[in-house]
Amino acid sequence: MKLSADDCREMMCFIADKVIENKSCLTEMDSAIGDGDHGIGMAGGMIKVKSQIEQLGEIDNAYQIFKIAGNAMLMSMGGASGVLFGSMFMAGAKGTAKELGTVELAEMFAAGLTAVTTRGKASVGDKTMVDALEPAVAAMKDYSGDSMSEMLKNAKDAAYKGMESTKSMIAKFGRAKALMERAIGHQDAGAASVWIIFSAMCEWVCSNKN
Ligand code: ADP
Ligand code: MG
Repeated sequence: MKLSADDCREMMCFIADKVIENKSCLTEMDSAIGDGDHGIGMAGGMIKVKSQIEQLGEIDNAYQIFKIAGNAMLMSMGGASGVLFGSMFMAGAKGTAKELGTVELAEMFAAGLTAVTTRGKASVGDKTMVDALEPAVAAMKDYSGDSMSEMLKNAKDAAYKGMESTKSMIAKFGRAKALMERAIGHQDAGAASVWIIFSAMCEWVCSNKN
């Protein structure tokens, strides 16, 4: 099972809709331990993503969709997350391919993770989006079959566990850092966005490509 450029376009619009739907809950999470703008930023970025990819004419490079999406986020969102989520989509999307298989998708997000950690310097355990993204990428790399839905189910489950794990952490980066122990009990908003993105990809593939 592979994703064509049109599949990627539809899937990216579906991801954008899911993030936009969760705007207020992401903002609530960021209000508890940050400055309360994460949902607003992510939803605003995703509106831009949708308008840019919907305007595209015929396209036959599947990577192009993620490149455009990442660039739209990078250019339109402020805060830490504009650069980090923009890079997550863009960094691995430099190639050319009519379709993406499980290996290509895993490699694309692995490069995205490298870009996020290179720019943000966070590791697992620091209470950031990396706590959800790193296990999701590891699950994709570990997957050796050719079912996109199975691989994305593994990735989504790993992202969920990672997101949950941020609740008990003290933050080493971002605005929650200043709260020290008071951040314990609250989950990281960026990690929740990563989970929403992976679960949207999984849902789209499970309902459209099986
Ligand atoms: P800001 O912190 O500028 O208000 P957002 O609220 O949009 O930006 O995003 C905050 C999220 O960004 C955090 O929940 C965290 O997941 C992520 N984040 C912040 N700093 C880093 C970093 N250095 N590395 C990785 N992720 C980070
Ligand atoms: Mg914020």
